Order: sequence, then structure tokens, then C-alpha cells
Amino acid sequence: MTVETQAMEVARDLPVENDLKSLKPGLEDAQDAIKTLLCFLGEDPEREGLVDTPTRVVKAWMEYCEGYSVDPAAFLTTQFHEISNYDGPVTLQKINFVSHCEHHLAPIVGFVDVSYLPDGKVVGISKLSRVVRAFSRRLQTQERFTAEICKCIQVGLKPKGVAVRVTADHSCMSNRGVNDGSSSLVTTSLTGQYETDLILKNNFLTS
Ligand SMILES: [Zn+2]
Repeated sequence: MTVETQAMEVARDLPVENDLKSLKPGLEDAQDAIKTLLCFLGEDPEREGLVDTPTRVVKAWMEYCEGYSVDPAAFLTTQFHEISNYDGPVTLQKINFVSHCEHHLAPIVGFVDVSYLPDGKVVGISKLSRVVRAFSRRLQTQERFTAEICKCIQVGLKPKGVAVRVTADHSCMSNRGVNDGSSSLVTTSLTGQYETDLILKNNFLTS
């Protein structure tokens, strides 16, 4: 190995400045953090029931947050133009989801109603569910979640309008704090004709 290639080898091993990936904790660091939390709560992380908990928790969180490595817009690239002049709204109701709030890492459980007014093309209905799932598998606020789904469909499919309504229960509210388990949060995001056509808008909001 020449001095030059030796230098290149060394350079490759050095962390790149401002490279977040080089600062990202490893799997063991994440498991240690859960262990620390268990100790903080007064538990013995070495007892039988908890000894594998840090491993299980980190694995579960990787699943809860798998949406970070998914591009939701990619689900909308296959579009169908054969819609026989159908020009009414396409609505998919009650797409169930589980997400986690970014403020408490607590579950948000609910459903999404999605509607769009085609402009000569549609997507397979399962793709709408996939878009919802991809955004739900990230740390979220319900407001951003709603707006992200709406924008993704508007930009990806370019319909005449999109309407998204999210109805959800927040564990951080029902299971702590005010302990109110009876209320749901409803958020709505509208674009195009859903904003300007009051009949279309009301039909969606009352459906
Ligand atoms: Zn919260």
C-alpha cells in the first residue's frame, strides 16, 4: 500500500464533519437508553421480565418509525387514465392508523377519510392507505399529519382538489394529564375545489 492510499484509507475512517449519520447512536446506545429509563423509574432492568425489554422496545420503535425511510409520494406514481369520463369525487373512508405524538411519544390512534376530485386520472385505492401509513409511521402532530397527506396527494396526483380529515384519540391526553378519554381531535385539510365548491366541501365534511 502506498503512502497515498494509506492516507485515503485513514481519511475514509474519519467521521465527516456535520455528517449526522456519524453522530447517530448505535443499536446498543438506544437499548442502553431504555435501560436507563427503567432505572430512572425505579425498576430493576436485570429482573427476568425486563431483561430483554430494552431490545424489544428499540425493535418496536424501529417499526413505529419505519415511515422515515419510505417516500410516500412513490405510491402515487402509478396512475390510471381509463376512468370512463367519471368526474365525481373518489373517497376512501376510515383508513385506520396508529402514530405517535412527537411531544410525549404516546400513541395517536384513529382513522383518516381521504377524498379527491380526479382530473382525468386516478390511483389504486390501496395507494391512499399506503400514503397514510407512511406518514403515520413517524413522530407526528395530528395537524402536520393531516396537511402532509393532503399535500402529498395534491402534488403527486394533481387532482382538482383533495380533502383529508383525521379523527383521532391521543393517549397523552386520555392516559395522562387531564385523563380525558372521551374526546377525539378532528383536523381537516382541503385544497382546490374542496375549498371553493361549498357543496363538494359539505358533502365531504358531513359524510
Ligand atoms: Zn402528546
